[in-house]
Amino acid sequence: MKLMDIIINSAEKDNLITTYCFSCNIHIWPPNRYCNSCFKKTGFRKIDRKGVLLEKSFSNLPDLIGHYGVGDFSGIRLIGSVDPSILPNDRIRISQVSVKDNKLNLEFSKSKIKN
Ligand SMILES: [Zn+2]
Repeated sequence: MKLMDIIINSAEKDNLITTYCFSCNIHIWPPNRYCNSCFKKTGFRKIDRKGVLLEKSFSNLPDLIGHYGVGDFSGIRLIGSVDPSILPNDRIRISQVSVKDNKLNLEFSKSKIKN
């Protein structure tokens, strides 16, 4: 089974995972069977759904019209749809995980910060 198929199957059950190097303690995205740093075999680990928005842009591609952002989650960068009110450096979380055309479809929401 391809790595991406395993990740997609898991995402369909609302479980967001990617490959992880247990020697370097880093998530690896896009997934890879071997660590990019130490070349050891990777395993799977859950992605922390809490992150920070790095960039935001508007897409007018026919199937993807809307605001999209790049977020940093546990050191990896993922793309997801965002509400226009979310700004770079805002704390975000992955509020929805779904699969569309065999691809990950993520939605980011602003985190509520507790004082
Ligand atoms: Zn490693």
